[in-house]
Amino acid sequence: MSRADPVTAGSIRVFDIPMQVRFRGQVRRQGVLIEGPAGWGEFSPFPEYDATVSARWLAAALEAARSGWPAPVRSSIPVNTAVPAVGAEQAHAMVAASGCRTAKVKVAEAGQTLADDIERVEAVRDALGGDGGLRVDANAAWDVDAAATALRELSRFDLEYAEQPVRTLEAMAILRRKVDVPLAADESVRTAADPLRIAGLEAADIVVLKVQPLGGVRACLEIAEACGLPVVVSSAVETSVGIAAGLALAAALPALPYACGLGTLTLLDADVCTGSLVPADGALPVRRATPDPAALDAVAADTTTCDGWRRRLQAAQAVLDAG
Ligand SMILES: [Mg+2]
Repeated sequence: MSRADPVTAGSIRVFDIPMQVRFRGQVRRQGVLIEGPAGWGEFSPFPEYDATVSARWLAAALEAARSGWPAPVRSSIPVNTAVPAVGAEQAHAMVAASGCRTAKVKVAEAGQTLADDIERVEAVRDALGGDGGLRVDANAAWDVDAAATALRELSRFDLEYAEQPVRTLEAMAILRRKVDVPLAADESVRTAADPLRIAGLEAADIVVLKVQPLGGVRACLEIAEACGLPVVVSSAVETSVGIAAGLALAAALPALPYACGLGTLTLLDADVCTGSLVPADGALPVRRATPDPAALDAVAADTTTCDGWRRRLQAAQAVLDAG
């Protein structure tokens, strides 16, 4: 253990928050908040992630706690509302109520048809009006032919891009030459090496970057510069402490042509502070989040959960120490 080990320093809090909807098979969002001289950082890798993968998430949390972030070049970040695979009427109502000028619509849901996607996207376009931003996310569920068919149909609703329509970068590169809709790589960006492959294969027009999985705000800025593509910053469904790191990235990028996927706090039943980073009028302010003692107590994990997270933190720290 290094001297600066946050576990032995004791300045950590483990949270355990119910979610509104099942996400990645989970009904609760858990993680650790780490306090340091620069503020608070969030370490919340998903349950199946090993120490090596989790080490990048810890690097992001320690950057937030110890170093802080590069200076912002903007003070407000536009965000999209996310429309799950619901019916057209509900999709319309969700977008109208969101206050957002951009919507991301789930498509290619298991058990649904292209007709379902068309109805949902049409309803969202209607709710947004002609000048709203509309994007779809297939979460890699299509093959190249299905994606080409679907995107040719959906393109009449003026899509700003399609997120991860197919699984591999090679398939993205083939699809990109068949359709006019710009493509965004999300799941394909797992490590710092991936965006360089995206650029080399000319597999995408846009990259979706998430601060924790990629090891911090500075790491993401380097990736953005290396791949040379426009960036959409997304959350990993975090508390306000984690969302603040995403906002810091979105605020520090030289250009931000698209709304970001940082309006995700509504997926959680509770937060770790008062003054949560919930969008107002389709945007979030660029600021840090400071946990509130009463809010932290209300979402505190039980002893067994805390012990498990201390072990995950130590294992990730050991990976960072081994360098
Ligand atoms: Mg996505």
